[in-house]
Amino acid sequence: MALLKSLPQVRARLLRVVVLAALPLTGVFAAISTAPDTPPPGSALMENLAVDVGRSLVTPPASYIREERYQRADTPSGLLFRLGLAEGEARRLLHSNLPLMRALRPGLTVTAEVDAEGRLLRLSHLGLRDALVTVTRHGEAFRSVEERAPLETRVMLRSGSIRSSLFAATDAANVPDGVAMQLADIFGSDIDFHRDLRRNDRFSVVYEMSYLEGRTVRSGRVLAAEFVNNGRVYRAINHGGSYYTPEGRNLRKAFLRSPLEFSRISSGFATRMHPILREWRAHRGVDYAAPVGTRVRATGDGVVEFAGRQGGYGNVVIIRHHGQYSTLYGHLKGIAKAVRKDGRIAQGEAIGSVGQTGWATGPHLHYEFRVAGVQRNPLTVALPAAQPVATHALAAYQRDAAPLVVQLDLLANGVLAALE
Ligand SMILES: [Zn+2]
Repeated sequence: MALLKSLPQVRARLLRVVVLAALPLTGVFAAISTAPDTPPPGSALMENLAVDVGRSLVTPPASYIREERYQRADTPSGLLFRLGLAEGEARRLLHSNLPLMRALRPGLTVTAEVDAEGRLLRLSHLGLRDALVTVTRHGEAFRSVEERAPLETRVMLRSGSIRSSLFAATDAANVPDGVAMQLADIFGSDIDFHRDLRRNDRFSVVYEMSYLEGRTVRSGRVLAAEFVNNGRVYRAINHGGSYYTPEGRNLRKAFLRSPLEFSRISSGFATRMHPILREWRAHRGVDYAAPVGTRVRATGDGVVEFAGRQGGYGNVVIIRHHGQYSTLYGHLKGIAKAVRKDGRIAQGEAIGSVGQTGWATGPHLHYEFRVAGVQRNPLTVALPAAQPVATHALAAYQRDAAPLVVQLDLLANGVLAALE
């Protein structure tokens, strides 16, 4: 897991040294941007400027801006060192007990402006709820100010096709992880992203991205998306936080396609090993090979019927759902503490993690889908969908959805991709 996760972090660690005086003015951005968001628009320019300065060392720059991400197992002093602060300066800042130092957590990006002697001029990071914390120098003391960050939201349009895994495809298309996870979630009732993906499946996505002073800060909501799986086209339009087809049908169904939580690690594993170990008919369940610890989620809302050890199933959870449906999750390494007999469970809620307890030759999840106590193949059972857009609101919905549908059409036809 650490190995897989470390790649983007390594990328983020690349030190960007920038001459403050030569900072480019942020350009004017169209409402719809098709420019790649990683690296952010400014950074390529900045790196070029740094090279130029290297060539003409006539007047050394007065200060530098450096950007570092706080790593897992990082220390505040390690971070300040990488930001270029002199030792005494870092010590003084650490002892200043400013809220910023206490707020450091893995993933936070800290920006510092440091002069040629390693003295800190200004330091900032974006905290929770868009709070921009800025530390400035006043003589030998530091002062910290917290304000709401002037974030700018841009709409991004991206498309890509699957070669190996969804994440490999979204990486290649410069789509952030947060958006890839949303795609898996939005289409999670129709597509099992662990088993159904085919080579040459395609996606198009329209999503929001937050920028601060020309740099990407984080990904936002998916506004519209298309997924072509095995020749079948699925489309989703965001309407009040739920996703509907352009015609107004709800994409949410009573059950998720996959009981495994989709993540970079589980998706990569599934593409290396075929997840179906045995023929369904013979064995009355679906087996998902996955690394030990991969999170298992309830595929539908329900009540816990059983949670504990049971013979060949090992650690097992059985959930009773609406109507005659029940689901079973076997060979679990552990069962989530909140999962107790007769307790309520929501669709998508984590109930445990993949293991190999009971009669299992390797780590995998054994999943059964039962109707009136009889195991059925979850892939062939038709399931009711959640509420569609109300009839009286349908005209307004379709009017709002129209421009997004146009964007999906353009992406699907490769028109927008050709502009990049
Ligand atoms: Zn099995």
